[in-house]
Amino acid sequence: SLTIGIVGLPNVGKSTMFNALTRNNVLAENYPFATIEPNTGIVPLPDKRLPVLAKLVHTEKIVPATVTFVDIAGIVKGASEGEGLGNKFLANIREADAICEVVRAFEDDDIVHVNGKIDPADDIDTINTELILADMQTIENALPKLEKDLRGKKIEPAYFEAVKKAKEILEAGETIDHAAAAGKIDKADVYDLHLLTAKPFIYVFNVDDDELQNDDLKKKLADSVAPAPAVFLNAQFEADLTELDEADAREMLEDAGLAESGLDQLARVGFDILGLSTFLTAGEKEVRAWQIHKGYTAPQAAGVIHTDFEKGFIKADIVSYDDFVAAEGSMTKIKEEGKLRQEGRDYVMQDGDIVEFKFNV
Ligand code: GDP
Repeated sequence: SLTIGIVGLPNVGKSTMFNALTRNNVLAENYPFATIEPNTGIVPLPDKRLPVLAKLVHTEKIVPATVTFVDIAGIVKGASEGEGLGNKFLANIREADAICEVVRAFEDDDIVHVNGKIDPADDIDTINTELILADMQTIENALPKLEKDLRGKKIEPAYFEAVKKAKEILEAGETIDHAAAAGKIDKADVYDLHLLTAKPFIYVFNVDDDELQNDDLKKKLADSVAPAPAVFLNAQFEADLTELDEADAREMLEDAGLAESGLDQLARVGFDILGLSTFLTAGEKEVRAWQIHKGYTAPQAAGVIHTDFEKGFIKADIVSYDDFVAAEGSMTKIKEEGKLRQEGRDYVMQDGDIVEFKFNV
């Protein structure tokens, strides 16, 4: 499954956030390199529709979609040259499908900052520079063979041009993700290079409670990374939340003036930048959100449940979540009102589709 690698300088709150994500109580240490082994955490994608559906179809069992996070060892300046844990860091990040960069904005004199000061823009620059340098190295290494292949007409000139364009972007200090969002390059054209900075980025700003209420500050930080998405959370607060039962956690959120937890936001944003979407099934056995790639057709979606469903696909009976809830889950009513759609092979799945696939066995 697709994974999001959590990266950041030491002591920015990565472990605190990761442990909260996984409700796993490994102690976060105030110590650079505390997180040496990559850890994987699979977290539910928050979906308020699922309990509503479960009630309507009288089932206790809810299976949400999931988002997988991998905690990657702290990066330091010089990682691209293999300093410290550099090589391991780059290998781990290469395996991730998206990059979640945790950036410290909170002030706490007791917790040492590796660069001696709290400066989010500078921290982002430190990390991105290492990733950019690693990508430049990848291109340098690939170029001699590409030049030979170009002369031997084994590759398209357009591909060679795209690689050179990527090199220019990186040399100017920009990530491929950022440049692609601005229309300067098409990621698909340089996909074969598997560049680190071509992965989608999310920035998590670890803020304190005052900063969390400071809209001007948040806007400034969000603008500094746009159009990449930014999530603001207080990692320590999120960790405390996960210690509570649901009712107490909701009360603590309300007291803090928050509609949802930062981790829920992060899971949602992460799921989205991975290019994922869901469709729903609702039956007596269970209510479930199935994970698909955006743009999947009905047979492809059926194949996520079972390969036989895709092979023998006939049609999909679909009702939208809103219509299902309006009819209080009564299929009779849904049919009477003409809200049950029959979709064929070319139908592209939509968010909120509640589906029953018909197939040959
Ligand atoms: P990592 O090295 O990035 O994994 O950072 P840790 O999660 O180990 O956090 C480093 C230190 O900062 C620990 O002592 C945490 O308790 C503390 N910390 C983490 N998040 C916050 C926060 O949001 N506010 C404050 N004040 N301290 C935090």
